Amino acid sequence: MRILITNIGELTTNAQPTVSEPAEGLEAGADICGTLHDAAVLIDGDRIAWVGAADEAPEAEEVVDARGRAVIPGFVDSHSHLVFGGDRAAEFEARMRGRKYAAGGIRSTVAATRAASDDELRARLRGFLDEMLAQGTTTVEIKSGYGLDVATEERLVRLAAEVTPEVTFLGAHVVPVEYADRGDDYVDLVTGEMLDACAPHAKWIDVFCETGAFTVPQSRRVLEAGIARGLQPRVHASQLGPGEGVQLAVELGAASIDHGTYLTDDDVTALAGSGTVLTLLPGVEFSTRQPYPDARRLIDAGVTVALACDTNPGSSFTSSMPFCIAVAVRDMRMTVAEAIHAATAGGAAALRRDDIGRIAPGMRADIVLLKAPSRVHLAYRPGVPLVDAVWKDGARVV
Ligand SMILES: [Zn+2]
Repeated sequence: MRILITNIGELTTNAQPTVSEPAEGLEAGADICGTLHDAAVLIDGDRIAWVGAADEAPEAEEVVDARGRAVIPGFVDSHSHLVFGGDRAAEFEARMRGRKYAAGGIRSTVAATRAASDDELRARLRGFLDEMLAQGTTTVEIKSGYGLDVATEERLVRLAAEVTPEVTFLGAHVVPVEYADRGDDYVDLVTGEMLDACAPHAKWIDVFCETGAFTVPQSRRVLEAGIARGLQPRVHASQLGPGEGVQLAVELGAASIDHGTYLTDDDVTALAGSGTVLTLLPGVEFSTRQPYPDARRLIDAGVTVALACDTNPGSSFTSSMPFCIAVAVRDMRMTVAEAIHAATAGGAAALRRDDIGRIAPGMRADIVLLKAPSRVHLAYRPGVPLVDAVWKDGARVV
């Protein structure tokens, strides 16, 4: 089945960076979004077969007229925690009244998750995925981390693997209450029996390297054990204060360090010279009233940046990439083009994927048509549902 999306007013390809025509009042500059106008995209099966000018487009069985509207790659949300029970609305409300966020709130979700059946968790998970697709997210990474015992962690990675290849084993999310003051013993469990049970379902190993969660030596043990089992590392770090998690992530060749709310100059230098992506999670700062990281400082230093939702019941319960883009532009000082790029190609880099995040021949046909003339509207019209149609692997899903 060949589908032609044509007469696209503004096509974000993220392919070869080009020099764009400057809009009135703006300077010309490198266009990291690889923008084309009056363009067309041909889908053949699950892949993109052709991209070019609308008046040169090949024939297709189905034609979609995108006149006057913008098309972007599907969002790649490279950080989420979608398999859990319960919610923490009361905690959120208390925090908005002034109580401080602490990592320990995770434990209440752990109790609810352990008590939930597979079918309950699965139904919830599929609901979140539908919600995300409707907002333009075509790839999502999902972490475990609300089981914290061998049987439940195995259930969480197994359920996640039913819906995405991007599954992360995060048994080292927080030390569970039954191991209070015995963090090293819990790390023994995570790197032993729990890893044995979870590794067959996972691609990634992750750890929350933070005061109140896991120390740097404990985090190193977790990541090295996962690497030895063929998993690839990614790290939660520098969310609640500065620490050595970024340096550890870079040293171990992690695909991404996530959060980075508090980064030292040495962290920024290390990231800029590395293959490790910094994944910014603006929903967390929004929902915890922490200061936003300065993305401008990071991008100007040469750090590769991704944007993700970190959907979870405690610190960021949004599943909306457009919301994260709007906040990143307003409060983290990213340009709109940088934010869109970070939410698509950046997410792909954070997952070490070269088949998503761009609209170019050979890429997976993960494409979003907006009810707007330009991608700028994603930040310009926050909170407005602007996704008109979504194709995932070439199939129309929204
Ligand atoms: Zn997280």
